[in-house]
Amino acid sequence: MTNTHDTEISHSDDCEKYVNKFIQDFQIRSAEIGKGTVIKRALPSREKRMIGAWCFLDHAGPVHFKQGEGLDVGPHPHIGLQTFTWMIEGTMLHSDSLGTVDQLIRPKQVNLMTAGHGISHTEVAPATETKMHAAQLWIALPDAKIDMAPQFDHYPELPVVEKDGVEFTILVGEFLNTTSPVKVHTELLGVDLTAKEKTKTRLSLNPKFEYAFMALEGTAVVNGHELDQDNLVVLEPGLTELDIEIHEGGRILLLGGEPFESPILLWWNFVGRTQEELRIAREQWINKDPRFGSIPSYIGESLKAPVFPDSMRPSK
Ligand code: MN
Repeated sequence: MTNTHDTEISHSDDCEKYVNKFIQDFQIRSAEIGKGTVIKRALPSREKRMIGAWCFLDHAGPVHFKQGEGLDVGPHPHIGLQTFTWMIEGTMLHSDSLGTVDQLIRPKQVNLMTAGHGISHTEVAPATETKMHAAQLWIALPDAKIDMAPQFDHYPELPVVEKDGVEFTILVGEFLNTTSPVKVHTELLGVDLTAKEKTKTRLSLNPKFEYAFMALEGTAVVNGHELDQDNLVVLEPGLTELDIEIHEGGRILLLGGEPFESPILLWWNFVGRTQEELRIAREQWINKDPRFGSIPSYIGESLKAPVFPDSMRPSK
């Protein structure tokens, strides 16, 4: 341990220089989506639209509800993206237009739905469920894959590595020499860092990646920036390592990726490149075009597309 102290000081001096240049730290918005379910939408935000191909990040819950009063999201379409669900507490049933019926997702599991050309799906809490806590993300598909055939994948188990008292679950990409089985189409990273006791660890970063940290439970300190459940700490590309201190019971979501190749348009449940393709997709949903299939097992109304806007702001 004798030389550690000097190393630590020179390291933190180095990092000091980079703090202002590379780090953004901003508040995220909360919204109630009905029945007491609070979501915190970190992406897209005014300050940062995307992290790599990650283009949407909702932290949903934790919420307790009465049996039968949980989430019930009727059929709705997606194009041009992958939806990614990381379940922390509670369970959910996924059905889709590819014929998937009531796929149960439990804590520590991932659902990945590749919309590509087009898909529709439902998300419903099981009748006996009373809890929900999840991270819901979207991943923009690159130009070459935006129109790919739709697919649904359930990942019952993700690889876990322990280091410095932190349990790292590798959700997407490669970290600590461990690779997630989750199939994505750009250079991307997603890691859940959970600490039972207060601990500190140093993360190796890819200088080509931009990163974001979000607290799903508890709090942490990222290179001197306090992270709680109301802010997002974003690192621009260029850092090769970083210190994080996670407080007792903390669960931190780390996202990373190479800055996305092209600006995207994100409207309602669609990701595209031109306003015209989004307008067409909306018309097709309204007109029950086979592009989005159907979900015969679902009893209830489909979601209605909102009014189409005159102009849109590209995300990058
Ligand atoms: Mn959806």
